[in-house]
Amino acid sequence: MRIQPVADEFAHLDEFEELIGPARTRRMHECARLLRERLDGGVLWHVNSTAAGGGVAEMLHTLVPLYRSLGVRAGWMVVGGDEEFFTVTKRLGAGLYGSPGDGGPLGARERAAYLRALAGNAEPARALVGPRDVLVLHDHQTAGLAELLHDAVSATYWRCHVGVDEPNAAADRAWGFLSPLLDRARGLVYSVRRHAPDDPRVAVIPPFLSPFSEKNRALTPEEARACLAHCGLGEARGTDSGPAGGGSAFEHPARVVADGLPQPGEPLLVQVSRWDLLKDMHGVLAAFAEHTDSGHLALVGPDPGGIPDDVEQKVWFDRCLAVREALPAAQRCRATLVCLSMADLAENAVLVNGIQRSADVVLQKSLAEGFGLTVTEAMWKSKPVVASAVGGIREQITHGHDGLLIPDATDLAGFGALMGAAVAAGPQLAPLGARAHERVLNDYLPDVDVVRTAALLGAG
Ligand code: UDP
Repeated sequence: MRIQPVADEFAHLDEFEELIGPARTRRMHECARLLRERLDGGVLWHVNSTAAGGGVAEMLHTLVPLYRSLGVRAGWMVVGGDEEFFTVTKRLGAGLYGSPGDGGPLGARERAAYLRALAGNAEPARALVGPRDVLVLHDHQTAGLAELLHDAVSATYWRCHVGVDEPNAAADRAWGFLSPLLDRARGLVYSVRRHAPDDPRVAVIPPFLSPFSEKNRALTPEEARACLAHCGLGEARGTDSGPAGGGSAFEHPARVVADGLPQPGEPLLVQVSRWDLLKDMHGVLAAFAEHTDSGHLALVGPDPGGIPDDVEQKVWFDRCLAVREALPAAQRCRATLVCLSMADLAENAVLVNGIQRSADVVLQKSLAEGFGLTVTEAMWKSKPVVASAVGGIREQITHGHDGLLIPDATDLAGFGALMGAAVAAGPQLAPLGARAHERVLNDYLPDVDVVRTAALLGAG
């Protein structure tokens, strides 16, 4: 277990308050005051399994500084584990998504390995926490700490960011593993109501994005162009202030697999995701190649070598490589794969930002989705999103109103047709993009977390 260093202050509080207006601002501060009273000097700790990559880490980089700026003591701890631990947690994660994962067991041996690794985290954590502290344990990697640390703090809550729309045997098995470990948790928090078990402790708190982060802040056209150029999706152009002669403004090279640049004026379709079975990047590629005849596709994900607890990413990236390699040349040159370095998170974030903002259409063809922050990010940028109606995506998007959904996530022809329609509609989709932005402004900004967490902790 290690403490993840984060800023002591949310650098954009004033701008944020301006964005959400006086009524929401007052409410946020009032809830923070109630939380301070409830904690009575204790710390609100968030615990997860990675400092970078994935939606939870993304949120915590904003949430912890925001709480601190509002006067609530807050911290972030990251659990570690051995290979066996991550094999088990990967299996559990797949299971919670209703997928068999690697098909391996989740029996007594796996339970012992899981708890052994978490006990190794609980021991140093005991030296960090106090009896007034509250632990918010994120996802299956940390759930066992509810059992192991309940006596060291005033309360533990489990926050689950994954889930499956129709529970199946794999999901039941994963839940059967975790649920006894959560008996002592005071609350079970889900992003999406339909993913939650029937339990009186359940509460719903949606994830959010930070409008001023490198991932979401407004970019100048030059910045956006530099992002595209760095990712092999546009011409590098020197400026007086920037690097001249086609050099990149970014320090860490991206791995780009491409047969040339998109044609001038060719619409750009983008999916940004981890390389993962359930993100179905290879399905997007197949749907695009087989069922569309215009536009350029960019599949963008983290460098598979850069995320230590996610050994499977290389497998799914390689699958995309193979699918792309097998395409006829005319289709292959319309598809670019981009692996972004995770060595510098700010650089990675601004690249994702630039690519999302440069896209004409943003895609998210997940087979299952806890919430889908990439969708929120694209909606914030007023982009038309073409996605599958799964998990949190269908909470966020109302088809035809603020995005476009296919009902069946496995329907390649349907997804291709929707991509084609979105490209053909072009600027006609601007009002839909504007409504998408409005949706995020109303429902998916971080003040919502403060208000709902106050209610969760019974503050006030
Ligand atoms: N992300 C990133 N760099 C990448 C790929 C993804 O920063 O190369 C971010 C993405 O912008 C989003 C998060 O990782 O903020 C993914 O969150 P989401 O809820 O979409 O999916 P998860 O990976 O948590 O299943």
